[in-house]
Amino acid sequence: MSTVRHAELTCSRCGTDTVHEVVYAGRLLAEVTCTACGRTYGRDVRADYLADLRQRLVTKPKRMLRRLRKDPLRFASSLPRTVPAKPLELLSEIRVVWHSGKNRRTRGEH
Ligand SMILES: [Zn+2]
Repeated sequence: MSTVRHAELTCSRCGTDTVHEVVYAGRLLAEVTCTACGRTYGRDVRADYLADLRQRLVTKPKRMLRRLRKDPLRFASSLPRTVPAKPLELLSEIRVVWHSGKNRRTRGEH
């Protein structure tokens, strides 16, 4: 599931030790945001997430990866049939993961 934690880190933009919001997709760190100035450090975790997900799902990994790339939301909604546990948590993970990919292209420095 996607998880938000808080950690005290040094922000490279405002240079202070301040609380950062840390977003995880499953076990992967996807995004860190400085709560003082709002600077966001995004990571594109899609490749890592797919590798991680492949270990968590046992059936037809290649076909599932293709479907996930093509249409992530539809893929997630089809999961209850193949993954009995916690489809909603998986969906929230996938949202974070896809957001991380968008982030890298559109946000960057600001
Ligand atoms: Zn900052």
